[in-house]
Amino acid sequence: MPGETWQTDPPYQQPDRPSVERAAFRRKLRGACHCGRIVYWLSKDEPLASKYCHCNDCKVLHGAPFQWAAIFHKSDMAFQHGAAGLRFYNSATERAEHDLPCKVSCSHCGTLVMDEGRNMVLLFPTLLSLEDEKQRRNFEAQCHIFYPQRVVDIPDGKPKWAGLDTKSSLVGES
Ligand SMILES: [Zn+2]
Ligand SMILES: [Zn+2]
Repeated sequence: MPGETWQTDPPYQQPDRPSVERAAFRRKLRGACHCGRIVYWLSKDEPLASKYCHCNDCKVLHGAPFQWAAIFHKSDMAFQHGAAGLRFYNSATERAEHDLPCKVSCSHCGTLVMDEGRNMVLLFPTLLSLEDEKQRRNFEAQCHIFYPQRVVDIPDGKPKWAGLDTKSSLVGES
């Protein structure tokens, strides 16, 4: 059935199961949830972008003042046990199912792992084991989005967008 192959496509394609599309997966960075049942690997140690999101959905779903997300291609991520042990939630439909874009978390401990889009993943770098200063710098956020919905001011000099970056207007720091 179309659309039913997602459990064997990246990022759920397991790192030790190569395919025509992905000959070999190089494990470069490791991420894990709080209870350790969910482990994933990244084949790159530098995201396409990194940002802080202050939107109301992120604040509620994360139980945190804002969300920190790093963007990767799906092909650069591989869950150790595929889709097993993961829970899915689509915030638009409010249905707990794998309907993109959706929120992905550990079904046991509840740790939020990533937002899965159609082509990209927005993963939460606080789960990663970053080993040195260079890797930490790679993940440094470039901007803030949905900043007017913030609960805390972050006067860090980084660009602050009213909505999505480059698709909204820039706003002041406070
Ligand atoms: Zn867990
Ligand atoms: Zn958000």
